[in-house]
This record gives sequence, structure tokens and C-alpha cells, in this order.
Amino acid sequence: MDIPAKDAIAAANRRYKRSLTLRYLIALTLAAVLALCSYLLFRHIMAAVDRAAAVTAVSGSQRLLTQRVLAQCLLLAAADDNETRRDIKARLGQALSALEVNHQRLLADLDDPASLAAAAPDLRDVYFKPPYDLDKGMRLFLKNARAFATSEAARPSLSDEAFLNLLAYGENELLRDLGFVIQRYQQLAMSRLTVLRRLESGATLGMMAVLAASGLFIFRPMVRRICADRERLQGANDALAELAVTDQLTGAYNRLKFNEVMHTQVARAARYGEALSVVMFDIDHFKVVNDTYGHGAGDDMLRELARRVIEATRGVDWLFRYGGEEFVVAAPHTALGNAALLAEKLRLIVAGTPFPHGIPGSISLGVAELKPGESVEELMARVDAALYTAKNAGRNRVAVAGCASENGTQCPLPEPLPTI
Ligand code: GH3
Ligand code: MG
Ligand code: MG
Repeated sequence: MDIPAKDAIAAANRRYKRSLTLRYLIALTLAAVLALCSYLLFRHIMAAVDRAAAVTAVSGSQRLLTQRVLAQCLLLAAADDNETRRDIKARLGQALSALEVNHQRLLADLDDPASLAAAAPDLRDVYFKPPYDLDKGMRLFLKNARAFATSEAARPSLSDEAFLNLLAYGENELLRDLGFVIQRYQQLAMSRLTVLRRLESGATLGMMAVLAASGLFIFRPMVRRICADRERLQGANDALAELAVTDQLTGAYNRLKFNEVMHTQVARAARYGEALSVVMFDIDHFKVVNDTYGHGAGDDMLRELARRVIEATRGVDWLFRYGGEEFVVAAPHTALGNAALLAEKLRLIVAGTPFPHGIPGSISLGVAELKPGESVEELMARVDAALYTAKNAGRNRVAVAGCASENGTQCPLPEPLPTI
């Protein structure tokens, strides 16, 4: 890869990181703002609910207090002795004071722009405009009732016109108007709650939308990218691992892989009592090939040799480049006789067909089968000796370890072909 391409990739990565960070920050900020709004809204709703409940309760108690005042007035009119009248007057006074305090509180609420009543001009009209004129009526009611509560007279008379007017106004108008006020406050509280609930639902939906958008536009692309990067990295790692154990010229496995595979194969064969054979071969007079046709032609010959051997061996066999022009085939599950036949087959595919540039070639091969308790090194020493025997015997031939003349064992060695 050239430098500008590397720079372009690094710049693209930087851009991607920046845009991802920006999107991430925007999403986090939006989520934080929405969470804050939801929290403030929730607090506002709770305060509004408290306030609406309090003012509705006050307006409700006004009706009860008015009924109590009227009842105490009637009791006062009916009371015979002074002591009872004193008690009734005291209770009447208390009820009137509470009625007045509550009335002032409701009036103050009417003037508060944040109150429930602020959104209801008709409520204000009930207090200050005919036909209700509740404020004026209440003040008059309080004044007249207080007059009876504090009067020195023995008791109000049911024939007293002022007393009858007080009872009639209280019963017919004041209770009715206060009932209207209660009803209106309840309506206002309900509609305020409905609005706030909708707002809260909107904030929750907004939050969910931000979360969904974050998942869709930030986390999904991010996860995809991470997965793709991981796959690329895994692929690159696999390629590197393969490269580290492969000979670049021939594609055969190198000595590193040889050490690993042979120790495993020998251990496995020993453990399960399986056969394992090795064939070691070396190009005959390869120096001459290099000297005559050039090093490039020599390389082509090595490549072609490996290709032919790989094609001729089984998928479970291993081909290693053992040295310069020296190779080893490891054949699991193969006893000495079959390994000798394999070696002969290899000899023939080399000697039988000229190599690129029309170069004739041949190989000498040694064959050995793993003996019980034998190490990799001992096995390789024996196969190396067999190869040496094949070279010494005139090249382009197979020599089987254990079949050398020193121990006299007879092995079915194929007849060598004449060198091309
Ligand atoms: P023998 O039949 O005894 O094996 O003779 P030889 O010439 O093949 O043996 P020798 O060991 O004298 O020479 C091996 C040659 O292989 C020498 C070396 O330059 C050549 N060689 C080793 N590796 C490579 C390679 O990767 N490419 C090429 N072109 N030549 C190589
Ligand atoms: Mg050689
Ligand atoms: Mg050699």
C-alpha cells in the first residue's frame, strides 16, 4: 500500500470518528435536555397538583363553613339560656373568622397569574360582577353574621327581617355561588392536569425518539463498523498467520510449520499406534540448473516441483520446504510400503515431464516410517540417511530406510527410470 492511500484511510478514519463523536454528543445533549425538561415538568406538575388540590379544598370548605354559620345562627335564635348562647356565639365567631380567611385566600388566588383562576375569567366575574357579586355578598354576609355573633341582644328573633335576610341570602345565594366556585375549581384542576399529563407524555415520547434515533444513527452504524473492522482484522490475522508458516516461493509450508506439525503428528501416531511416514527429496544437480539456465529458471523449477507434488499427494499429507531445494512430505496413516510407492510416484512426475523453459529434472528420495518410541529428530536422521543413499546410488531413485544393505532387509524398491 502506498503512502498517500494510507494517509487517505487515516484521514477518512479521523473524519468518521469526528462525525461519530459529534452525533454522539448531540444525542447525549438532546437526551440530557429532555431528561431535565421531564424532571422540571414533573416537579411543576406535582406543585400544580398540590396547589390545585389546596385551592379546591379551600373553596370546598367555604361551603361547609357557610352551612355551619347558618346552623349556628339558627341555634342561636333557638337557644334559651345565656351560657348556651355564649358557646354558640364563640363557635359562630370561629366559623366566620375561618370563612373570612379563606375568602381572602381565594381573592389572592384570583390575582395570582400562576393560579388556576388566572385561566378562568368567568371565575373572577363570579366574585366581582353581577349577578353573583360573590365578594360583595360574602363581605355583607360576614358583616351581618358577625353583628349577630357579637350583638349584646339576648338572641336574634326569627321575626327580625335582617336575620331572615341573612339566612335567606346564605341559603339561597351564597351556598349556590360557592357551589359554582367549587365546581369551577374542580374543572380547572382537571383540565390543568390533562394539559400537564399530555406535556409529560410528549417529553417521554421525545426521549424515546432520541433513544431510537441514537440506536439507529449512532449505535447501529458503530456496531456494524466495529464488526466489519473485526472481520477485516481477523482476515488480516489469518493471512499473516498463514504467511508466517508458508514459503513464499513455492507455497509449501516452511521449517517453522514443519517443527509444529511433525511434533504433533509423531505424538499422535505414537499415542494411537498409527503409521506415519516421511519422504525427503532433493533436486539432482540443481546447481547446474541454476548455472545453466539462471536463478529465475531455477525458481520456476522449484515452484513447478511444489505444484506437482501438492497435486500428487493427499489432502491430509503435508509438503514442507526443508532447505534450499530439499523438501519433505509427511504422510499420516501411511506405512513404509505405501510411502515407498508414493516416493516412486513423485520421482516419476518429476523425471517424466520437463520443467518450464524445457529444463529436464530429477529428484532423489529417501523414505522412512516412524518406529515406536522414535523422536522427530531420529526419524529425520534416518530419512536423511536414506536420501543420501539414493544420491550415492546414482540419483533419480528412491531409497527406503531400513532396507539398506547394512541390515539386509528386503524392501520392494521400484526400479529407477533413466535420468532425462
Ligand atoms: P545434488 O544432486 O547433490 O543435490 O546437487 P545439487 O547441485 O542439487 O546440490 P547443491 O547442494 O550443490 O546445490 C543446491 C543448489 O540449490 C545451490 C543453491 O544455489 C540452489 N538453491 C537453493 N535454494 C534456491 C532457490 O530458492 N532458488 C534457486 N534458483 N536456487 C536455489
Ligand atoms: Mg540437490
Ligand atoms: Mg540439497
